[in-house]
Amino acid sequence: MFIDVASIWLQAGRGGDGKVSFHREKYVASGGPDGGDGGRGGSIIFQVDDNLSTLMDFRYQRKYKAEPGQNGGGGRRTGKDGQDLIIRVPRGTVIRDKESGGILHDMSDDAPFVAARGGNGGWGNCHFATATRQAPRFARPGQPGQQREVTLELKLLADVGLVGFPNVGKSTLLSRLSAARPKIANYHFTTLTPNLGVVRVDEGCSFVLADIPGIIEGAAQGVGLGHDFLRHIDRCRLLVHLVDAAGSEGRDPVADFAAINQELKEYSEELAQRPQLVVANKIDLAQDGGAGAQALEAAARAQGWDYAEISAVTGQGIQPLLWTIWDKLQALPPVRVYEEEYVEPEPQGDGKDIAITRGDDGSYQIESEYLARLLAQVDPNDYESRQYMERVLRQNGVFDRLEQMGIEEGDTVMLMNFAFEYVY
Ligand code: GDP
Ligand code: MG
Repeated sequence: MFIDVASIWLQAGRGGDGKVSFHREKYVASGGPDGGDGGRGGSIIFQVDDNLSTLMDFRYQRKYKAEPGQNGGGGRRTGKDGQDLIIRVPRGTVIRDKESGGILHDMSDDAPFVAARGGNGGWGNCHFATATRQAPRFARPGQPGQQREVTLELKLLADVGLVGFPNVGKSTLLSRLSAARPKIANYHFTTLTPNLGVVRVDEGCSFVLADIPGIIEGAAQGVGLGHDFLRHIDRCRLLVHLVDAAGSEGRDPVADFAAINQELKEYSEELAQRPQLVVANKIDLAQDGGAGAQALEAAARAQGWDYAEISAVTGQGIQPLLWTIWDKLQALPPVRVYEEEYVEPEPQGDGKDIAITRGDDGSYQIESEYLARLLAQVDPNDYESRQYMERVLRQNGVFDRLEQMGIEEGDTVMLMNFAFEYVY
């Protein structure tokens, strides 16, 4: 519901092509193959940036491309790798695969996440010389970079949720504290929408505050929306429980405080345990020498919560309140991470499209879209990657078929970007 959403295109860099070239030197008749490999294409990597709190920028730029790798050169020169593209997102951004809808990653910690891998560079012809083929006139093209459309979702990841009865001053406080208002995609209940605000405490210190239209408000209207809203404060680390300390409209601060706590509890025990800061508002209107506020403070402290007094209208107590909130946030554990529920889908197909042919030079050429997809990200320089490839080939009966075709030890097998000598 209350989610900032953006969907963007990622295109990782293509790998550079391998080079066909032969070593040349004066008075040397024909040198060996010395074509270098293409460079790896740049990947697209997501990284959390705590200075961001919205996905606004992604509405303006929707396509993201990483640099391609450069082609290999003569003299075994490897092409330069394409530069990775780093995309910065607010903490808590959930990255989904647009096609499947599955969660790829929850950007809640500081670990970078590679969302689209750059293609491997193709091998230059220097790799393809064998005892029987000393002048290979071919090299391999670079692999395409991974391409995908992803949806970014920033769940209302307010650090602080503002709870309290209607008219206690939640909206007033939020509008006073924050100028920047991210647009929130709200699909339902337009009349009861939580407002988000980025609150800047000081240079480099800011937090996201959400004014959640009360549980009670929904309940009072008999529409039972309250709990839907509450879901959006599930991830808040701190609740600021605002109470009308002046007891305007004949309210009793302590009773209000208890009523909201009861509502929270009914929604979720866990939320009811969430640290609270109890804030008495409208202190400028306080009557009876602030008896209501004093009673509230006692009730708050009895629960183990801290207490503060402000006037959202006059501004009294606001700056100290911000620092108190900031300090508390520093001490609270980081936001909960969603379970990773997404597994890369298995490529479709069953390997029936695998075709093996003999080349003019006696090599065995394997062509298969299915294998190409399975092996697209295999890195020939990586041991585990090669093991994986071997497993895939074995499982798909490729080795059996090669043997039926009479392959002998030392024969060259070519598969996409790979050429390898067959060994038993
Ligand atoms: P909400 O329903 O909790 O969002 O409350 P609002 O922010 O809409 O405030 C309800 C009313 O209380 C408005 O008329 C505000 O002007 C008034 N109000 C809010 N904070 C204060 C305050 O600190 N002092 C005074 N005197 N009035 C306030
Ligand atoms: Mg309001």
